[in-house]
Amino acid sequence: MIAAGVHAFRHEELDLTTGLVIGDDTCLVIDTPVHGEELRRQIRKITAKPWQVVYTHNHFDHCYGTSAFLPCDVWAHENFRFDQEEQAVWARRYRDEGKPEMATAVEESELVAPTKTFAERAEIDLGGRTVVLHHFGPGHSFCDTVIEVPDTATVFAGDLVEHPAFIEESFGDGDITQWPAALERLLALNPDVVVPGHGSPTDKDFVARAREVLIAGWTSTP
Ligand SMILES: [Zn+2]
Repeated sequence: MIAAGVHAFRHEELDLTTGLVIGDDTCLVIDTPVHGEELRRQIRKITAKPWQVVYTHNHFDHCYGTSAFLPCDVWAHENFRFDQEEQAVWARRYRDEGKPEMATAVEESELVAPTKTFAERAEIDLGGRTVVLHHFGPGHSFCDTVIEVPDTATVFAGDLVEHPAFIEESFGDGDITQWPAALERLLALNPDVVVPGHGSPTDKDFVARAREVLIAGWTSTP
């Protein structure tokens, strides 16, 4: 738990990190991994409130588990699209890596499209607590969504931030030249806690250093 009603979940596969924000009436699930039913079970141990899901972006590891949460609304940036090839590419990759169970899970994932989209900013009222969705332009992907929980100064950054280091797949289909500007806008939220898309929760100093690394040429880690 990061703060009252704000949780981060670490997943062994790819060191993925997902999130949960609980209001008085409803809760918000931030990203759903392959094997979404495991996250569903974890969340149901914490709260019985109805949920919505938000996608930080469209990469398979962040959005392939949503069918376990249906029926529910699913938020994403208006540019969100599933990459039609990604499912087959990752299934093959897991099979090649000797992980047939993951390969099958990826192949059999039912992709759930967003039902609610936004352009730059959206507020979600969870009852007694409002979360803010931000899009700071393309960076890690073309549809990065940052989720701010203002009452706890917490930000879920998706893969705009990975901690302690960017993983190999980080530099795929976004716009690296605009990534530092997106991080600058994230830092302007002045968060105390930044939850990355992969790895352990960190702080704004780390994000500032990661931004410098990106500007320096994305060749090493902070
Ligand atoms: Zn990603």
